[in-house]
Amino acid sequence: MTHYPNLLAPLDLGHVTLPNRVLMGSMHTGLEETKDWNRVAEFYAARARGGVGLMVTGGMAPNREGGVFPGAAGLFTAEDIANHRVVTDRVHEAGGRIAMQILHAGRYAYGPECVSASGIKSPISPFPPKELDEAGIEKQIADIVTSASRAREAGYDGVEIMGSEGYFINQFLVRHTNKREDRWGGSYENRMRLPIEIVRRTREAVGEDFIIIYRLSMIDLVPDGSTFEEVILLAQEIEKAGASIINTGIGWHEARIPTIATSVPRAAFTWVTKKLMGEVGIPVITSNRINTPEVAEDVLSSGAADMVSMARPFLADADFVAKAAAGKAETIAPCIACNQACLDHTFSGKISTCLVNPRACFETELMITPTERQKSIGVVGAGPAGLSAAMTAAERGHKVTLFDRAEEIGGQLNMARVIPGKEEFHGLVDWFRTMVADLGITLELGREIAAGDLDAFDEVIIATGVVPRDPGIPGQDGPNVLSYIDVLRGKAPVGDRVAIIGAGGIGFDVAEYLVHEGDSPTEDLDLWREEWGIGDPSETPGGLAPAGPQPEPPARRITLLQRKSEAPGKRLGKTTGWIHRAALRMKDVKMMGGVNYERIDAEGIHVSHGEARENPTLIEADTIVLCAGQLSDRSLADALETAGVNCHVIGGADVAAELDAKRAINQGTRLAATL
Ligand code: NAP
Ligand code: SF4
Repeated sequence: MTHYPNLLAPLDLGHVTLPNRVLMGSMHTGLEETKDWNRVAEFYAARARGGVGLMVTGGMAPNREGGVFPGAAGLFTAEDIANHRVVTDRVHEAGGRIAMQILHAGRYAYGPECVSASGIKSPISPFPPKELDEAGIEKQIADIVTSASRAREAGYDGVEIMGSEGYFINQFLVRHTNKREDRWGGSYENRMRLPIEIVRRTREAVGEDFIIIYRLSMIDLVPDGSTFEEVILLAQEIEKAGASIINTGIGWHEARIPTIATSVPRAAFTWVTKKLMGEVGIPVITSNRINTPEVAEDVLSSGAADMVSMARPFLADADFVAKAAAGKAETIAPCIACNQACLDHTFSGKISTCLVNPRACFETELMITPTERQKSIGVVGAGPAGLSAAMTAAERGHKVTLFDRAEEIGGQLNMARVIPGKEEFHGLVDWFRTMVADLGITLELGREIAAGDLDAFDEVIIATGVVPRDPGIPGQDGPNVLSYIDVLRGKAPVGDRVAIIGAGGIGFDVAEYLVHEGDSPTEDLDLWREEWGIGDPSETPGGLAPAGPQPEPPARRITLLQRKSEAPGKRLGKTTGWIHRAALRMKDVKMMGGVNYERIDAEGIHVSHGEARENPTLIEADTIVLCAGQLSDRSLADALETAGVNCHVIGGADVAAELDAKRAINQGTRLAATL
């Protein structure tokens, strides 16, 4: 008997039956733009082999003006169609099904040729769109329909028409961006004409035996968005126009509310989709922050949707569904919703991959193959770098022993997981623990290793991590000064007024840890909605709470300091930095750049400003926490070198600057793939 009777139940769409209720949601990986079609095909085929019911590709542009950025991929030529055939054939050979997303970005298109309902620039793009005339609108519809026909020709099982997230179609739906007075603007009947015409004409063009998913924005999270009455009406009209499935879109890209980041509670928006259930006859998909089979099963069994969309979890583990079906859910590599290797890469023009799975999108390049000669491998340090190296080596058939001086595995991940909003790191450490046992790695915790202890191994990997940097501030030895390790390990009491030295990733984490008390909003959906001001689209158009964000008062008064004069937090994750900054601002955390640390005494920390060390200021604080970055812990590596023992040094022990779990896991995995 399966643990997931709802998730693994087939879904009958008339002309086709999907094997389960799992959709791999659309992700822009950047793979199509590489034009390496074997690589694209392998990415999707791996997920098809892993048992997902239906996949949706990254957004394909219907025309040049609608592409998310200049040169965005789409089906424009016979050659494009032939290239996409490589992908669909490989997916079908693997027993999977795949739909192509058609994404017209409208005013979000990053280029001067962008078009929209009205000539109103978006707050997240420098390009004002051209207001389309009647012929222009007809051209956009025709291009989208042509794109769907070409998708069929390329062997896709269907298309997803992207009608949410504030893109082109969404821009016609709400008054916020549609000021037209012709038949495409004004009344809701007029504003929804565009999506209905697109779906109706697409159905006419592609025939009945082709899946049309319509992604509908159910809560816009921008002022003056759609009401839920409008959402229901649109969904019903979209069904009549010929869609097979309705998928849920949450929040416009310009919304200032996090919708998929790790601090968003799991399944945080399924209540929105549930409001549509029973209003339409076709299946409804829900999405956002669903990352385990348990959560997905709960969502379906509660009647919130007919199907569940997960996107990033399929970067973390291509075999998500197969492992769930085999009763081995605990071996699924968890997506921790960090965005560090997926969306942050996309927005930096890099190929997406995954922090926990460096093979994602690198399936044809990073091969983990069985070894021809088993070696005994000693790995020192059970943080993310050492764990990944140990796991990959063991997976390949090597005999691996993993040492750590601590009594638990995880290294720095154990500090991350106590931060409110980073609870997903618990799951990551649990997964590592499961895999270490599953792969038969010999684990020796509580062992301080010296150079001479490693003689018996064929290969030695040093992943001893980092030590805190000593900022050398006069007075830092006082009783009111703590290191971030003391604080996050809960070893020391912290006063009400706190100054944090260093505003990097850890400084921000420590601030987040210290301003919260009681339940983490990430584990309490109502509290989280209050904090960010998320109301109900049935009560307020767009779903913003009329009273705005109502954060709990901060547990402490915090000042976050750095020497650089730039805005603190500027270098945090590309797609998540704004959330960390906004979260701390909501808790009245003072951020100060451009300071010199003069001295610490019982009153607090004395700083001065600028190169001339002017304007001396006392920042009163009961506790000062040092988060001044880290240095490599190379003591064992150096001792081995002195003893003439060859070793591989990885992770923070190799390079401490800008270390994160993404680099550590990637480096550990890649090294072990070669041994
Ligand atoms: P970090 O991000 O490099 O920040 C170090 C901080 O210390 C900076 O604010 C720096 O600012 C300050 N600093 C450097 N040298 C100093 C000195 N001699 N005296 C006083 N202050 C000094 O390092 P981290 O905060 O330790 O984080 C370690 C790594 O983990 C980073 O790569 C970080 O990105 C990663 N991490 C990421 C996240 C995340 O959310 N993605 C969370 C936690 C950690 P000034 O030099 O301007 O003073
Ligand atoms: Fe999930 Fe982070 Fe991997 Fe992206 S990089 S898929 S958010 S774990």
